Amino acid sequence: MSGGPIWEVAVPVPLRRVFSYEIPASLGKPEPGARVLVPFGRRRMTGVLLGPSRALPAELAVKPAIALLDDAPALPEDLLGLLREAAAYYMHPLGEVLRAALPAGTDVVERGKRLAKPRISGRLERIVLPTAEAASALEALVRRAPARAAVLQRVVDLGEVPMSELRAVRADASGQVRRLEADGLVAILERDRPPDPFLTTIVARDVPPVLTAEQAVAVAAISARLERGGYEGFLLHGVTGSGKTEVYLRAVDKARELGRGALVLVPEIALTPQLVERYRARFGDALAVLHSGLTERERFEQWRLLRSGRVHVAVGVRSAVFAPVERLGIVVVDEEHDGSFKQERGFAYNARDLALLRAARAPAVAVLGSATPSLESHRNAGLGKLTRLVLAARATAQPLPEVDIVDLTRHRFGPGGQNVVSGPLYAAIEETLQRGEQVILFLNRRGFAPGLLCTACGEVRKCSFCAVSLTLHRRPPGLVCHYCGAREPIPERCGACASPDIEPVGTGTQRAETVLADLFPNARIARLDRDVASGRSAEAVLDRLRRREIDILVGTQMVTKGHDFPLVTLVGVLLADVGLHMPDFRAAERSFQLLTQVAGRAGRALRSGKAIIQTYSPTHPAVLLARTHDFLSFAAAEAAEREELGYPPFGRLALVRVSGPDAGRAEAAARDIAASLRASWQRLGRPPVSVLGPAQAPLAFVQGRHRFRVLVRSPSHDLLGKVLEPALPFFESPPAGVHVRLDMDPMSML
Ligand code: ADP
Ligand code: ZN
Ligand code: ZN
Repeated sequence: MSGGPIWEVAVPVPLRRVFSYEIPASLGKPEPGARVLVPFGRRRMTGVLLGPSRALPAELAVKPAIALLDDAPALPEDLLGLLREAAAYYMHPLGEVLRAALPAGTDVVERGKRLAKPRISGRLERIVLPTAEAASALEALVRRAPARAAVLQRVVDLGEVPMSELRAVRADASGQVRRLEADGLVAILERDRPPDPFLTTIVARDVPPVLTAEQAVAVAAISARLERGGYEGFLLHGVTGSGKTEVYLRAVDKARELGRGALVLVPEIALTPQLVERYRARFGDALAVLHSGLTERERFEQWRLLRSGRVHVAVGVRSAVFAPVERLGIVVVDEEHDGSFKQERGFAYNARDLALLRAARAPAVAVLGSATPSLESHRNAGLGKLTRLVLAARATAQPLPEVDIVDLTRHRFGPGGQNVVSGPLYAAIEETLQRGEQVILFLNRRGFAPGLLCTACGEVRKCSFCAVSLTLHRRPPGLVCHYCGAREPIPERCGACASPDIEPVGTGTQRAETVLADLFPNARIARLDRDVASGRSAEAVLDRLRRREIDILVGTQMVTKGHDFPLVTLVGVLLADVGLHMPDFRAAERSFQLLTQVAGRAGRALRSGKAIIQTYSPTHPAVLLARTHDFLSFAAAEAAEREELGYPPFGRLALVRVSGPDAGRAEAAARDIAASLRASWQRLGRPPVSVLGPAQAPLAFVQGRHRFRVLVRSPSHDLLGKVLEPALPFFESPPAGVHVRLDMDPMSML
């Protein structure tokens, strides 16, 4: 053994431990946060160097690392620290946490015998690296195969050599390298060539407006903290159209003036290109944009712009909370209540919460903004953990839209015998169209109808892989499962009784579009939901709306996201009840947010707007209080209920999700986990923590897997962690076929 130092390495495997490797001196100087290629079992994996081993390694024989992959550490020190803290908080394996923080495409994986960075297209170059055995094998090889030895000698001397260079020196280099690779003396790495200089695009700069009095107060408070330095979290509670974005822009500009970096997190970028344009118009090319609509290559380039310190402002979605912004001065979380900040698979973090943690560690300023803050942030403001800033009026002269509720239990539907558009909504749409203005209609259900019902026997066609009914789609025709994507042809007869009397029940956006076309034959109608539009095509639909080529836009929650269309003066909610009665304690909160946000799309510029909400539950608080945009009353009523149940924000939850194709095995595993949690609770002297379950999940069968869960409820996160800790080994080695996932601070209870 060449006797290099022993380092701790985080390897992306679902184990809550780190691994030790020797770093031979020939590889270069190890640094924390740098990526390293290591042998792992029979594979080679990309890990991240954490630091020199402090204790005796757990491994019997410490293996040498194969290669150091970074000149400068991929993860700067502050990010590495944040991620270690996050891994501990979420009780998630560190290696997986670190991998989630690095842009896809920086991972070196083994494909066949070759090491490759997958899916980064174009401009790849192959690099030949010596393995740890290379140097000692040279001597023997010189006698046995001198040509091959010469190639190996060059690789050992240079540390790493581009394949093209070897080939330029020796015509047979490829063949020799292939054999050296087979003998385990070299490794081949494919990596991208250095990027082209960043192409500059010219963007028209905007002229910042004069701030309203309320905006000026908010900007002054944030600026003062930026100048003083240190951490402070703000909750910017501003009604829809109050000009929160202008406050963010000024705050980011202030940070820049002070030589600090800025990070802005938004729920969705593909759907809100105009929002990014506002940042571009203010900051030009000094801006990195990180979102899922980018190709892996593009995302990597943006990441590298930040990492190299060439750009100091980033706008991005959830995962951008890990963007390597240097000298971070401010983190903004726009629409902080939005569920998309919660990652639901793998490392299940909440980017809003990690943004606060990152700001506190930096230290930097955090600004969480919303018209409908989450109850968590609202309570934190009440407790003084966040400083509340209020924008109570719209930035433009317009008041908030008037909201009417149409009680569907009493109102007749409008003309044509349809049951989608009520009389009052029909009249309002007609008036709006006559004035040459535009309408947005919202229905949170895509497809034609949410069910196909046999009127003879009552059978509703269900998905064979999920315990949910199939949605009828007309374009293209078929029955589709919205949980697993399974698709089957529309049957002619009932599958249970063979009766031909089968009918669509309920309404989705496709049916609404059809009904509207009948009711308003002269209007230009378009639909926006996941079936017509993903990413860039959604942008195209919204552009047509902006250019006034669409009179009525009907769609799912894609139409509710922060859009700002001056001529949209009427917003209709076709059925507020969708989502109101979900078996989830946040159902009312989510409905209130959605209704308030969608109503807020109306009348944002020069003309005043109106919203109409159709519902079978006209007295539900989420509906009633959305009518008056009354967040504080809603929050107070909802908080009273949550407090009684010990639910967030008054308590903490952890959901252990257990699933598998065999219901019996999955349930047994869930029972074992619940038992181990109760045992741990006993040993801790029965703290005020409840272990609930196991129970069947509300969505009990999805994608062919039966789902069970154990819910742990605690007054504090610390106590929750203490009870969970001893049960963690169960999560790492579940019985065959069973999958266990820990969801800390779950957002969805389904
Ligand atoms: P929010 O994000 O709070 O819903 P926006 O930031 O989208 O609101 O602002 C709503 C509208 O008001 C936008 O058209 C914006 O350009 C405009 N606006 C914002 N601040 C001002 C201001 N100080 N003066 C004039 N118009 C403003
Ligand atoms: Zn039937
Ligand atoms: Zn399904």
